[in-house]
Amino acid sequence: MKTVIADEQLTFLSDLREYLDGLDPELVAAARAENIEDPMQPRTHCQAFLRQLGEDGWLGISWPKEFGGQGRTDIEHWLFAEELYNRRLPNGLLTFNVVGPTIMLHGNPDQRREYISRIMDGEIIFAISYSEPDAGSDLASLRTRAVADGDGYLLSGQKIWSTGASIATHLWVAARTGPPEARHRGLSLFIVPADSPGITITPIITQGGERTTSIFFDDVRVPATQRVGAENDGWKTITAALNFERMFYHNEPRWELRQLAEWADGAGLLDGSTAESYELQTVMGEHAVDVEVCRLMALRGAAMLAAGQVPYAEASTNKIWWGELRQNICSTGLDLIGAEGTVVDTDGAPASGHLVHGLMSSPVWRFGGGTNEIQLDIIANRGWGMPR
Ligand SMILES: Cc1cc2nc3c(=O)[nH]c(=O)nc-3n(C[C@H](O)[C@H](O)[C@H](O)COP(=O)(O)OP(=O)(O)OC[C@H]3O[C@@H](n4cnc5c(N)ncnc54)[C@H](O)[C@@H]3O)c2cc1C
Repeated sequence: MKTVIADEQLTFLSDLREYLDGLDPELVAAARAENIEDPMQPRTHCQAFLRQLGEDGWLGISWPKEFGGQGRTDIEHWLFAEELYNRRLPNGLLTFNVVGPTIMLHGNPDQRREYISRIMDGEIIFAISYSEPDAGSDLASLRTRAVADGDGYLLSGQKIWSTGASIATHLWVAARTGPPEARHRGLSLFIVPADSPGITITPIITQGGERTTSIFFDDVRVPATQRVGAENDGWKTITAALNFERMFYHNEPRWELRQLAEWADGAGLLDGSTAESYELQTVMGEHAVDVEVCRLMALRGAAMLAAGQVPYAEASTNKIWWGELRQNICSTGLDLIGAEGTVVDTDGAPASGHLVHGLMSSPVWRFGGGTNEIQLDIIANRGWGMPR
């Protein structure tokens, strides 16, 4: 698969950069500060920033023009997400990069019309509710039930790790509509307003400070029109969304490498005056190569999507690569900085505390979107045709 970026895509990127450079600096600074504080929680300033992009025609890059998008390919969509990520600006997270594209793929025309336009207007933020206390890697064993009732369903059960649900307007919920023994063939996918009667959301804070949640559904009424795809055919929708998540909800660690380089430079460790300095330059060079590999792998996945292919193994490979690389870069930084590097949230903290924060958050990147061990299985099965 060819991964070279075409001239028109480079023009797109330079137009995007010019547009972002020309935005109101106050809007950008407020969105960046909020996004750095907790990228999993797109709040007031992040939403205002995204709304501005929407008004200016800079959202929904790969969505058709009839939905207000730019009608470009997944490669431009990926470049867009990357550029915003590298500037530490909100890029739409799960709503624009995971749920929206999946609705475009598996939603019916009414759902596409309603949800894509509301997403573009900045009215909707999604959180994803697949995992349960006893169903993570083995998602096909999930027990939250959607029982047919009149022209809809009654939803009951418990979800956990639904990140961002406390600020989401809608939940993207996997539930059992068939018998438990049907496993993944008995699941359906629903869009559920987060303020529906019968929903209780409780916060969970991780060691890295990410705010995730646990959700209880107690006979929550969901109209059948809110089911995405056919009954018991939700697995197709879930796996499509997971592929988008592994591809686009990316976290290329270029930014962490920059934090490390700036800190090391400021500490005089990159001037080549000592043997340690040369050694560090080698390590930094290796990390820099790995960052470029990360980018090329992601672009390959985007190119496959643009060509109508599904990058199962490629998305999983990319997800393992960036998660582990991000952890390694932060770890290099903290080894160098020493005990002082563990200071967070204090003015003057080395590398502004970003490296220690990255290291503490890194388990999330190994788990979120499916653990790395499960990704290895997918790579073996899907990529190399090995038996399950
Ligand atoms: C901070 C955070 C945010 C999250 N956000 C979301 C979210 O927004 N929405 C959502 O639905 N979920 C979310 N998750 C859940 C995440 O997807 C699950 O934690 C993950 O799928 C693993 O499930 P589990 O925690 O039940 O661990 P388990 O499945 O119990 O796994 C435990 C360990 O066993 C290993 N293991 C399990 N099965 C196998 C196997 N077959 N082969 C090899 N090794 C195996 C795993 O790799 C892991 O190391 C989040 C999790 C965290 C920690």
